[in-house]
Amino acid sequence: MTSTRCAACKQLRRKCPSNCIFLPYFPPNNPQRFSYVHRIYGASNVGKMLQELPEQQRGDAVSSMVYEANARVRDPVYGCVGAISSLQQQIDHLQSQLAIAQAEVVHMRMRQFSSMSSGGTAGNSPENVSPSSRHTQTQPTMSLFTMDMVVDQANMGESLWSC
Ligand SMILES: [Zn+2]
Repeated sequence: MTSTRCAACKQLRRKCPSNCIFLPYFPPNNPQRFSYVHRIYGASNVGKMLQELPEQQRGDAVSSMVYEANARVRDPVYGCVGAISSLQQQIDHLQSQLAIAQAEVVHMRMRQFSSMSSGGTAGNSPENVSPSSRHTQTQPTMSLFTMDMVVDQANMGESLWSC
């Protein structure tokens, strides 16, 4: 009968009752899952928490505990807070990049508008008009993509030269 014990009862070296509270969430084929949770929370605390929860919430509670216990084993000081704050930093970084890109779009649209209002001749302000914006005056939102293509072509040219 030992092979039918759940991972929790197996590790705690006890009989696994047929109504074992751990059995649905800690199957015997994944002992590591219980081992981390036991190490961080303690088996009796996990059992108590599961008993206090309605059955339909237990699965979510266990996957949360498994995630947090894994994070705590990997990072004993910060646990999953470490992962959260590093993701938060990534979000902050990406948001500032997005703000810069949006400011560039506004800036380029204003340049385009001023070159159009001055008669559409690019020669009036050569330092303010990129070659791409001259070709895409009717579609302001395209200019960034066109710029990318120009940059790609320039890079290709460079790699051709280095060959
Ligand atoms: Zn069990």
